[in-house]
Amino acid sequence: SNRIMLGPLVAAIDQGTSSTRFLVFNAKTAELLSHHQVEIKQSFPKEGWVEEDPKEILQSVYECMDRTCEKLTQLNIDISNIKAVGVTNQRETTLVWDKETGEPLYNAIVWLDLRTQSTVERLINKTPGRNKNHLKHKTGLPISTYFSAVKLRWLMDNVEKVHEAVLSHRAMFGTVDSWLIWCLTGGKKGGVHCTDVTNASRTMLFNIHTMDWDPELCKYFDIPMEILPKVRSSSEIYGLMKSGPLTGVPISGCLGDQSAALVGQMCFKDGQAKNTYGTGCFLLKNVGTKPVMSDHGLLTTVAYKLGRDKPACYALEGSVAIAGAVVRWLKDNLGIIQTSTELEKLAADVGTSYGCYFVPAFSGLYAPYWEPSARGIICGLTQFTNRSHLAFAALEAVCFQTREILDAMNQDSGIHLSQLQVDGGMTSNRLLMQLQADILCIPVVKPSMPETTALGAAMAAGAAEGVSVWSLNPEDLTEVTSEKFEPQINPEESELRYARWKKAVQRAMNWET
Ligand code: ADP
Repeated sequence: SNRIMLGPLVAAIDQGTSSTRFLVFNAKTAELLSHHQVEIKQSFPKEGWVEEDPKEILQSVYECMDRTCEKLTQLNIDISNIKAVGVTNQRETTLVWDKETGEPLYNAIVWLDLRTQSTVERLINKTPGRNKNHLKHKTGLPISTYFSAVKLRWLMDNVEKVHEAVLSHRAMFGTVDSWLIWCLTGGKKGGVHCTDVTNASRTMLFNIHTMDWDPELCKYFDIPMEILPKVRSSSEIYGLMKSGPLTGVPISGCLGDQSAALVGQMCFKDGQAKNTYGTGCFLLKNVGTKPVMSDHGLLTTVAYKLGRDKPACYALEGSVAIAGAVVRWLKDNLGIIQTSTELEKLAADVGTSYGCYFVPAFSGLYAPYWEPSARGIICGLTQFTNRSHLAFAALEAVCFQTREILDAMNQDSGIHLSQLQVDGGMTSNRLLMQLQADILCIPVVKPSMPETTALGAAMAAGAAEGVSVWSLNPEDLTEVTSEKFEPQINPEESELRYARWKKAVQRAMNWET
């Protein structure tokens, strides 16, 4: 047969909150050759609870991998050219499984889940001065429902099977990256139990200065250290694939999704930033090799460590819980759209929210407020308001939340970004991109290859020692093409709308207290 000669290829597993993807890139040009995507079911067993099935997550990875390899074969591309696989994943989502049976002991508790709200409030009340930043000097994070430690604590306290497995030394804890790597490298028959520094930095058990699990933090949450995965760099060979079409290929890259996007957008320099619009919205700015603490409600997190002997780089992060999730809500809960792409047309029909403001604080508010008791609110309704205005207000909410984070970042550093690099599923919405430029009053720049998260994971995998088919030097890559959205409204109007948004946020705060 006429096999196409392409040189080395690198693949990425991108396991997100709403879907799983498998993508294959050309390591010389970063060109995306083929991919497959499968949506993931979310269950909401009680108000505020969000779960996913770990086996469905694993199955979706195998399905995407199988289908992508089939597509490549149809394109006459030899899959034996795939030299490495990288993993990138939804962060913080918490799993516990039994290492002897390989079975998950409960559903994955998704990062958005609020079941630990009372635990978090109790922990904060116990700290001197009721300070949610009590552990920030070690972790870079406020005590919040968001991070894994409280979710793991809940599982140990409330799920008998988890409790027993911990007592009998059979329990393994992990975020989605650990679960996948353990399963793909053999599972109960010798799977590798590891995570990378970026994922570890979101658990609240990891010390971002020593770059290891912290015995004091583990004691604080009363979590036995033996159930934790080994922490590795983001770019090294963790193990080999033990089944599926890529058996024998090394898994050699691992990054939390937001870190992967930072790498995929080539934000390797101090001060470079990107904003990713997926289920939530996450703005990360590279701050270099020393952690910088925020005074304005941002997180300090590990950005990447691209090799065992390479230095770790840190990022300041503004996390917004609900971005694309509001679109899914308008679709699934209100039924005002059938598909997420319909939203753009609906909102464009009116081009204004007509004074309607929508604060989608479904999971409390994250950055810069960190207020778990906030709840969603729609205000400014009149007889005239219709579903188009509501759709517009939902898109505007995503932009206002990003503005709040960018403001916090500017205040922290005193340096103003001159443009914003963006990516993620929602950026296909051009109205959203234009609105974002209008509300920030700076240009928004979107790469023409939108899969930057997967690209970052593939780059880390391809650059790993022992693989070395990918250069991480941005100059070696073929030119990245992008599209720019310039601000089109005057700054005064932008300020006025932003001030109203802030008023709406105040009404959403402390809803339950
Ligand atoms: P994740 O990585 O969190 O799974 P993605 O980056 O895949 O998320 O983006 C999916 C999200 O983007 C979904 O919440 C979906 O509702 C939203 N989305 C996708 N396309 C559009 C669109 N054209 N307009 C608005 N929202 C969209």
